[in-house]
Amino acid sequence: MNQVKLSCRCGAVQGTVDLEGAQGGVCYCDDCRAFAHELERRDILDAAGGSTVIQIRPGNLQLAQGHAHIGCLRLSDRGMFRFFTTCCQTPLGNVMYKPRLPFIGLSRAALHGEATQFPPLMGIQGRFATAPPPPGTANTVSVGQALNSLWFVAASAWASRGKRNPFFDDSAAPIAPVRVLSVAERNALRARDRTG
Ligand SMILES: [Zn+2]
Ligand SMILES: [Zn+2]
Repeated sequence: MNQVKLSCRCGAVQGTVDLEGAQGGVCYCDDCRAFAHELERRDILDAAGGSTVIQIRPGNLQLAQGHAHIGCLRLSDRGMFRFFTTCCQTPLGNVMYKPRLPFIGLSRAALHGEATQFPPLMGIQGRFATAPPPPGTANTVSVGQALNSLWFVAASAWASRGKRNPFFDDSAAPIAPVRVLSVAERNALRARDRTG
């Protein structure tokens, strides 16, 4: 058990996360950055445009309050479900769809606790960075990282059996209204990497 608090900036959305078995990463991909731009949250990006995401098992997140303030964005009709708060534009977490993998990529921006409790971070997708990323960042996803993720997903599937992902209801539908961006809307967000 390694419990930390999850909450949005204004405090309307609250929960707890067990970081047991979690894996951390800094993703420099343009999709994660487009999500930050959509939320007007350039402040969550590092100097090279990376977003810090902590992969956890779905059963290790409890959303205690504020469900009505949760929204969901997809950058395309096949994109990840990216959950955020509508009260104060806090990114919460990303979930894969097709295949629906048993993990949630929680945004570091929504987590609160001792910094030392967080797992070590691996940098990925460095080729999309907006400035030179930290040394050790993989250009795409390295073989070791991919194997690590596969192992994480397998272990997570086992640990999460029978447990619900709190971002989805019992009929496997997202708990929040989903907005899917058009190609033009997504391209406009990506263009903001250049225009600020
Ligand atoms: Zn809020
Ligand atoms: Zn990404």
